[in-house]
Amino acid sequence: MRIIVSGAAGFIGSHMCDRLLAEGHTVVGLDNFLTGAERNLAHLKGHPGFQLIRQDVTQPFAINGQIDAVLHMASPASPKDYLEHPIETLDVGSAGTRIMLELARSHHARFLLTSTSESYGDPLVHPQVETYWGNVNPVGPRSCYDESKRFAEALTMAYHRTHEMRTNIARIFNTYGPRMKLNDGRVVPAFLDQALRGEPMTVFGDGSQTRSFCYVSDLVDGLCRLMESDERYPVNLGNPQEMTILEFAERIRRLTGTKSQIVHRPLPQDDPKQRKPDIGKAQSILGWQPRVALEDGLRQTIEYFRCA
Ligand code: UDP
Repeated sequence: MRIIVSGAAGFIGSHMCDRLLAEGHTVVGLDNFLTGAERNLAHLKGHPGFQLIRQDVTQPFAINGQIDAVLHMASPASPKDYLEHPIETLDVGSAGTRIMLELARSHHARFLLTSTSESYGDPLVHPQVETYWGNVNPVGPRSCYDESKRFAEALTMAYHRTHEMRTNIARIFNTYGPRMKLNDGRVVPAFLDQALRGEPMTVFGDGSQTRSFCYVSDLVDGLCRLMESDERYPVNLGNPQEMTILEFAERIRRLTGTKSQIVHRPLPQDDPKQRKPDIGKAQSILGWQPRVALEDGLRQTIEYFRCA
Protein backbone atom coordinates (compact mmCIF):
# COMPACT_ATOMS: atom_id res chain seq x y z
CA MET A 1 0.00 0.00 0.00
CA ARG A 2 0.97 3.63 -0.36
CA ILE A 3 0.27 5.14 3.04
CA ILE A 4 0.18 8.76 4.20
CA VAL A 5 1.24 9.32 7.82
CA SER A 6 0.67 12.72 9.41
CA GLY A 7 2.86 13.37 12.43
CA ALA A 8 5.50 11.11 10.91
CA ALA A 9 8.36 12.76 12.82
CA GLY A 10 6.66 12.30 16.16
CA PHE A 11 7.46 9.64 18.72
CA ILE A 12 4.78 7.13 17.70
CA GLY A 13 4.52 8.35 14.09
CA SER A 14 8.18 7.59 13.40
CA HIS A 15 7.87 4.06 14.81
CA MET A 16 4.79 3.58 12.65
CA CYS A 17 6.75 4.61 9.54
CA ASP A 18 9.44 2.04 10.43
CA ARG A 19 6.89 -0.69 10.83
CA LEU A 20 5.03 0.09 7.58
CA LEU A 21 8.26 0.25 5.59
CA ALA A 22 9.43 -3.04 7.14
CA GLU A 23 6.19 -4.59 5.88
CA GLY A 24 7.00 -3.40 2.36
CA HIS A 25 4.58 -0.47 2.13
CA THR A 26 5.45 2.90 0.64
CA VAL A 27 5.14 5.78 3.10
CA VAL A 28 4.69 9.51 2.63
CA GLY A 29 5.33 11.19 5.97
CA LEU A 30 3.94 14.65 6.77
CA ASP A 31 5.09 16.81 9.66
CA ASN A 32 5.36 20.52 10.45
CA PHE A 33 7.93 19.78 13.20
CA LEU A 34 6.00 21.73 15.82
CA THR A 35 6.69 18.92 18.29
CA GLY A 36 8.15 16.24 16.00
CA ALA A 37 11.89 15.94 15.41
CA GLU A 38 13.78 15.41 12.18
CA ARG A 39 16.22 13.11 13.94
CA ASN A 40 13.41 10.59 14.56
CA LEU A 41 13.42 9.96 10.80
CA ALA A 42 17.10 10.55 10.06
CA HIS A 43 17.71 6.80 9.60
CA LEU A 44 15.11 6.74 6.78
CA LYS A 45 16.90 9.32 4.66
CA GLY A 46 17.44 7.81 1.23
CA HIS A 47 15.06 4.90 1.89
CA PRO A 48 13.45 4.22 -1.52
CA GLY A 49 10.00 3.64 -0.01
CA PHE A 50 9.94 6.76 2.13
CA GLN A 51 9.23 10.40 1.38
CA LEU A 52 9.04 13.15 3.99
CA ILE A 53 7.14 16.36 3.29
CA ARG A 54 7.26 19.36 5.60
CA GLN A 55 3.57 20.16 5.79
CA ASP A 56 1.20 21.69 8.31
CA VAL A 57 -1.86 19.50 7.76
CA THR A 58 -4.22 22.24 8.95
CA GLN A 59 -3.41 24.03 5.67
CA PRO A 60 -4.64 22.78 2.27
CA PHE A 61 -2.23 20.61 0.28
CA ALA A 62 -2.37 17.99 -2.42
CA ILE A 63 -0.65 14.65 -2.85
CA ASN A 64 -0.57 13.12 -6.29
CA GLY A 65 -0.79 9.47 -7.16
CA GLN A 66 -2.41 6.52 -5.55
CA ILE A 67 -3.20 6.62 -1.81
CA ASP A 68 -4.42 3.48 -0.08
CA ALA A 69 -4.46 4.55 3.55
CA VAL A 70 -4.27 7.77 5.58
CA LEU A 71 -3.04 7.60 9.16
CA HIS A 72 -3.76 10.83 11.01
CA MET A 73 -1.32 10.84 13.90
CA ALA A 74 -0.33 14.51 13.99
CA SER A 75 -0.90 16.38 17.25
CA PRO A 76 1.00 17.74 20.19
CA ALA A 77 0.43 14.93 22.71
CA SER A 78 2.26 15.68 25.94
CA PRO A 79 0.52 17.93 28.47
CA LYS A 80 3.47 20.34 28.35
CA ASP A 81 3.32 20.56 24.55
CA TYR A 82 -0.41 21.06 24.24
CA LEU A 83 -0.50 23.58 27.07
CA GLU A 84 2.16 25.53 25.17
CA HIS A 85 0.31 25.17 21.84
CA PRO A 86 -3.41 25.01 22.69
CA ILE A 87 -4.65 26.63 19.49
CA GLU A 88 -2.45 24.53 17.20
CA THR A 89 -3.67 21.46 19.12
CA LEU A 90 -7.30 22.39 18.52
CA ASP A 91 -6.53 23.18 14.89
CA VAL A 92 -4.87 19.88 14.08
CA GLY A 93 -7.69 17.88 15.67
CA SER A 94 -10.37 19.87 13.86
CA ALA A 95 -9.16 21.45 10.58
CA GLY A 96 -6.31 18.93 10.32
CA THR A 97 -8.61 15.95 10.75
CA ARG A 98 -11.03 17.38 8.18
CA ILE A 99 -8.24 17.82 5.63
CA MET A 100 -6.84 14.33 6.25
CA LEU A 101 -10.33 12.79 5.99
CA GLU A 102 -10.92 14.63 2.70
CA LEU A 103 -7.58 13.35 1.44
CA ALA A 104 -8.66 9.79 2.25
CA ARG A 105 -12.14 10.29 0.79
CA SER A 106 -10.92 11.77 -2.49
CA HIS A 107 -8.53 8.84 -2.98
CA HIS A 108 -10.95 6.13 -1.79
CA ALA A 109 -8.42 5.33 0.91
CA ARG A 110 -8.99 3.93 4.37
CA PHE A 111 -8.46 6.27 7.33
CA LEU A 112 -7.15 5.75 10.85
CA LEU A 113 -7.34 8.34 13.62
CA THR A 114 -5.07 8.12 16.64
CA SER A 115 -7.22 9.43 19.45
CA THR A 116 -6.43 9.29 23.13
CA SER A 117 -7.39 8.05 26.58
CA GLU A 118 -7.83 11.77 27.33
CA SER A 119 -11.21 11.37 25.61
CA TYR A 120 -12.28 9.92 28.97
CA GLY A 121 -11.01 13.00 30.86
CA ASP A 122 -10.73 12.38 34.61
CA PRO A 123 -12.73 9.15 34.41
CA LEU A 124 -15.48 8.15 36.81
CA VAL A 125 -15.53 4.61 35.39
CA HIS A 126 -12.54 2.39 36.03
CA PRO A 127 -10.99 0.74 34.09
CA GLN A 128 -12.03 2.77 31.06
CA VAL A 129 -14.14 0.86 28.59
CA GLU A 130 -14.88 2.24 25.11
CA THR A 131 -18.60 2.64 25.84
CA TYR A 132 -17.86 5.11 28.66
CA TRP A 133 -18.47 8.69 27.46
CA GLY A 134 -15.97 10.34 29.76
CA ASN A 135 -15.69 13.13 32.29
CA VAL A 136 -14.01 16.01 30.47
CA ASN A 137 -13.74 19.61 31.65
CA PRO A 138 -14.52 21.46 28.39
CA VAL A 139 -12.92 24.72 29.53
CA GLY A 140 -9.99 23.47 31.61
CA PRO A 141 -6.34 23.67 30.54
CA ARG A 142 -6.36 20.16 29.06
CA SER A 143 -9.55 20.80 27.09
CA CYS A 144 -7.56 21.89 24.02
CA TYR A 145 -6.36 18.30 23.66
CA ASP A 146 -9.33 16.37 25.03
CA GLU A 147 -11.97 18.24 23.06
CA SER A 148 -9.85 18.37 19.93
CA LYS A 149 -9.56 14.59 19.94
CA ARG A 150 -13.23 14.14 20.83
CA PHE A 151 -14.15 16.38 17.89
CA ALA A 152 -11.77 14.38 15.66
CA GLU A 153 -13.53 11.17 16.72
CA ALA A 154 -16.94 12.71 15.97
CA LEU A 155 -15.76 13.95 12.57
CA THR A 156 -14.33 10.55 11.70
CA MET A 157 -17.63 8.88 12.56
CA ALA A 158 -19.51 11.50 10.52
CA TYR A 159 -17.33 10.78 7.48
CA HIS A 160 -17.83 7.07 7.97
CA ARG A 161 -21.61 7.46 8.23
CA THR A 162 -22.00 10.07 5.48
CA HIS A 163 -19.49 8.77 2.96
CA GLU A 164 -19.40 5.12 4.02
CA MET A 165 -15.66 5.43 4.42
CA ARG A 166 -13.57 2.73 5.98
CA THR A 167 -12.37 4.38 9.17
CA ASN A 168 -10.80 3.30 12.46
CA ILE A 169 -10.33 5.13 15.75
CA ALA A 170 -7.66 4.13 18.28
CA ARG A 171 -7.74 5.51 21.81
CA ILE A 172 -4.11 5.42 22.80
CA PHE A 173 -3.20 5.20 26.49
CA ASN A 174 0.18 6.21 27.94
CA THR A 175 2.89 4.89 25.65
CA TYR A 176 6.66 5.05 26.08
CA GLY A 177 9.87 4.07 24.34
CA PRO A 178 12.84 5.39 22.41
CA ARG A 179 12.35 8.73 20.58
CA MET A 180 10.22 10.31 23.26
CA LYS A 181 11.36 13.88 23.67
CA LEU A 182 13.59 14.22 26.72
CA ASN A 183 12.03 17.53 27.65
CA ASP A 184 8.40 16.97 26.70
CA GLY A 185 7.41 16.90 30.36
CA ARG A 186 5.86 13.45 30.30
CA VAL A 187 6.49 11.25 33.23
CA VAL A 188 8.64 8.60 31.51
CA PRO A 189 11.28 10.93 29.99
CA ALA A 190 11.09 13.24 33.03
CA PHE A 191 11.81 10.48 35.55
CA LEU A 192 14.43 8.80 33.37
CA ASP A 193 16.23 12.05 32.72
CA GLN A 194 16.20 12.98 36.39
CA ALA A 195 17.29 9.49 37.47
CA LEU A 196 20.14 9.33 34.94
CA ARG A 197 21.41 12.75 36.02
CA GLY A 198 21.04 11.93 39.71
CA GLU A 199 18.64 14.86 40.12
CA PRO A 200 15.52 14.77 42.31
CA MET A 201 12.60 12.92 40.74
CA THR A 202 9.54 15.17 40.67
CA VAL A 203 6.39 13.32 41.66
CA PHE A 204 3.36 15.56 41.14
CA GLY A 205 0.92 15.57 44.06
CA ASP A 206 1.22 12.66 46.48
CA GLY A 207 1.83 10.27 43.57
CA SER A 208 -1.31 8.24 44.23
CA GLN A 209 -2.69 8.94 40.74
CA THR A 210 -2.42 5.88 38.51
CA ARG A 211 -1.29 5.24 34.95
CA SER A 212 -0.27 2.19 32.93
CA PHE A 213 2.48 2.20 30.34
CA CYS A 214 2.52 0.51 26.96
CA TYR A 215 5.75 -0.05 25.04
CA VAL A 216 5.72 1.61 21.62
CA SER A 217 6.24 -1.58 19.55
CA ASP A 218 3.16 -3.13 21.18
CA LEU A 219 1.15 -0.01 20.47
CA VAL A 220 2.19 0.16 16.81
CA ASP A 221 1.29 -3.50 16.43
CA GLY A 222 -2.18 -2.75 17.80
CA LEU A 223 -2.60 0.17 15.39
CA CYS A 224 -1.65 -2.02 12.41
CA ARG A 225 -4.13 -4.69 13.43
CA LEU A 226 -6.83 -2.06 13.92
CA MET A 227 -6.20 -0.66 10.44
CA GLU A 228 -6.93 -4.12 9.03
CA SER A 229 -10.12 -4.57 11.04
CA ASP A 230 -13.76 -3.77 10.29
CA GLU A 231 -14.31 -2.04 13.64
CA ARG A 232 -15.54 1.53 13.13
CA TYR A 233 -16.01 2.52 16.79
CA PRO A 234 -13.09 3.47 19.07
CA VAL A 235 -10.78 0.75 20.36
CA ASN A 236 -8.57 1.22 23.43
CA LEU A 237 -4.90 0.41 22.93
CA GLY A 238 -2.71 0.44 26.01
CA ASN A 239 -1.24 -1.68 28.73
CA PRO A 240 -3.63 -2.58 31.55
CA GLN A 241 -0.85 -3.02 34.14
CA GLU A 242 -1.79 -0.13 36.42
CA MET A 243 0.44 1.46 39.04
CA THR A 244 0.64 4.65 41.04
CA ILE A 245 3.06 7.30 39.87
CA LEU A 246 4.93 6.93 43.17
CA GLU A 247 5.36 3.18 42.53
CA PHE A 248 6.51 3.99 39.02
CA ALA A 249 9.13 6.41 40.36
CA GLU A 250 10.39 3.71 42.73
CA ARG A 251 10.68 1.21 39.86
CA ILE A 252 12.74 3.63 37.82
CA ARG A 253 14.95 4.29 40.83
CA ARG A 254 15.59 0.55 41.21
CA LEU A 255 16.10 -0.06 37.49
CA THR A 256 18.56 2.78 36.97
CA GLY A 257 20.27 2.30 40.34
CA THR A 258 20.10 6.05 40.83
CA LYS A 259 20.61 7.82 44.12
CA SER A 260 17.99 10.42 43.15
CA GLN A 261 15.55 11.31 45.90
CA ILE A 262 11.83 11.65 45.27
CA VAL A 263 10.44 15.15 45.73
CA HIS A 264 6.83 16.24 45.47
CA ARG A 265 5.55 19.08 43.27
CA PRO A 266 2.00 20.45 42.94
CA LEU A 267 -0.42 18.30 40.98
CA PRO A 268 -1.35 19.98 37.67
CA GLN A 269 -4.97 21.07 37.27
CA ASP A 270 -7.35 18.37 35.98
CA ASP A 271 -4.63 15.70 36.13
CA PRO A 272 -6.64 12.45 35.83
CA LYS A 273 -6.58 10.57 39.14
CA GLN A 274 -6.72 7.13 37.63
CA ARG A 275 -6.27 5.62 34.22
CA LYS A 276 -6.24 2.04 33.03
CA PRO A 277 -7.54 0.72 29.72
CA ASP A 278 -10.05 -2.06 29.49
CA ILE A 279 -8.54 -3.86 26.49
CA GLY A 280 -11.16 -6.60 26.23
CA LYS A 281 -12.35 -5.23 22.90
CA ALA A 282 -8.85 -5.11 21.36
CA GLN A 283 -8.22 -8.62 22.66
CA SER A 284 -11.38 -10.09 21.15
CA ILE A 285 -11.55 -8.09 17.90
CA LEU A 286 -7.86 -7.74 17.08
CA GLY A 287 -6.37 -10.65 19.01
CA TRP A 288 -4.06 -8.02 20.48
CA GLN A 289 -2.51 -7.50 23.86
CA PRO A 290 0.77 -5.96 24.98
CA ARG A 291 3.69 -8.38 25.11
CA VAL A 292 6.66 -6.29 26.23
CA ALA A 293 7.18 -6.35 30.00
CA LEU A 294 7.63 -2.94 31.65
CA GLU A 295 11.17 -3.71 32.79
CA ASP A 296 12.22 -4.77 29.26
CA GLY A 297 10.65 -1.73 27.64
CA LEU A 298 12.17 0.59 30.21
CA ARG A 299 15.62 -0.95 29.64
CA GLN A 300 15.36 -0.16 25.92
CA THR A 301 14.19 3.35 26.72
CA ILE A 302 16.95 3.91 29.28
CA GLU A 303 19.49 2.80 26.67
CA TYR A 304 18.09 5.40 24.26
CA PHE A 305 18.15 8.20 26.83
CA ARG A 306 21.69 7.30 27.92
CA CYS A 307 22.83 7.94 24.34
CA ALA A 308 20.54 10.98 23.80
N1 UDP B 1 3.97 13.35 36.49
C1 UDP B 1 4.79 13.44 37.60
N2 UDP B 1 6.02 14.02 37.45
C2 UDP B 1 6.48 14.50 36.27
C3 UDP B 1 5.64 14.40 35.13
C4 UDP B 1 4.39 13.82 35.27
O1 UDP B 1 4.42 13.00 38.70
O2 UDP B 1 7.60 15.02 36.23
C5 UDP B 1 2.65 12.71 36.62
C6 UDP B 1 1.50 13.53 36.06
O3 UDP B 1 1.01 14.41 37.05
C7 UDP B 1 0.49 12.44 35.71
C8 UDP B 1 1.36 11.25 35.32
O4 UDP B 1 2.65 11.52 35.88
O5 UDP B 1 -0.29 12.09 36.83
C9 UDP B 1 1.47 11.06 33.82
O6 UDP B 1 1.79 12.30 33.24
P1 UDP B 1 2.17 12.50 31.74
O7 UDP B 1 2.50 13.94 31.58
O8 UDP B 1 3.20 11.51 31.32
O9 UDP B 1 0.87 12.15 30.88
P2 UDP B 1 -0.72 12.11 31.18
O10 UDP B 1 -0.99 10.70 31.51
O11 UDP B 1 -1.06 13.03 32.32
O12 UDP B 1 -1.29 12.56 29.90
